[in-house]
Amino acid sequence: ATEAMLADDTAPGATADGRAVGLLANIGTAADAERLVASAEGVGLFRTEVLFLDRATAPSVEEQAETYAAVLRAADGRKVVVRTLDAGADKPLAFATLPDEENPALGVRGYRLVRAHPELLDTQLAALGRARAATGASPWVMAPMVATPDEARDFATRARAAGVDTVGVMVEVPAAALRAADVLAEVDFVSLGTNDLAQYAMATDRLRGELADLLDMWQPAVLDLVAATARAGRATRKPVGVCGESAGDPLMALVLVGLGVTSLSMAPGALPAVRYALRRHTLLTCEEVADAALAARTAPEARAAALALVDPEV
Ligand code: PEP
Ligand code: MG
Repeated sequence: ATEAMLADDTAPGATADGRAVGLLANIGTAADAERLVASAEGVGLFRTEVLFLDRATAPSVEEQAETYAAVLRAADGRKVVVRTLDAGADKPLAFATLPDEENPALGVRGYRLVRAHPELLDTQLAALGRARAATGASPWVMAPMVATPDEARDFATRARAAGVDTVGVMVEVPAAALRAADVLAEVDFVSLGTNDLAQYAMATDRLRGELADLLDMWQPAVLDLVAATARAGRATRKPVGVCGESAGDPLMALVLVGLGVTSLSMAPGALPAVRYALRRHTLLTCEEVADAALAARTAPEARAAALALVDPEV
């Protein structure tokens, strides 16, 4: 698509036949929120761990509440999905991660930190509850690295106790994708973290560039996990978003929408091309593109099968 076609388009995301697809931005700081482009319908992933980096202790409830309130004010009524602390593995934190884990990607990371440090999560949720009260906004909150329905239930209980009423979890562990119906029974929405979902499905460290052929969203096994999650979302009529990097690839975005994903959150720079790609294809075409990708045997074949069905400008 040409620059002119993409220029400053702020129409809400939708397929050619009008199926709405929320187009959201991934952010890491309140400053990111203040720069939030007009074309973003909101924030689909606020990576709060950025606030915790390079510090000896966790930020206080007051400091966190201020930051969350700043993000909510900047979003100005648009949707904001706040992710609770995702420490460990590729996101180490001095005061939260365990020093002696041999397999940190499989260790006490993400939501599991609640086992060792429940006060970190409860302080964060309390801060979000305060920011909600101070701004009158209604943030959504989600936990990272949830593997089981019981973890989803525990998180939902804690979040609702803090006064946050739209509660979800990330689906980035294959177990949660395979049992998405049971997970969705506990929460209001899920958001697929395809970076980690691919890492865990393919047993491939996301930081190892030389294994990129395995760590590929087009791997049919990874697409199967997305499809299973989206199917559960349809059955329960609850939103299923994607906030991994794959959401910002226009061709993959068509596949994700065809699988039943209801919103896409990405680096803000990727929004125009994804919006354009959606507008050029009907939901039925997206479904055909998704079916073609799922029917492939290999990642390159899945991508080629999808590409063969779409507008060559995408
Ligand atoms: C993901 O895993 O896809 C995700 C969105 O979260 P992060 O990249 O922060 O782990
Ligand atoms: Mg992740």
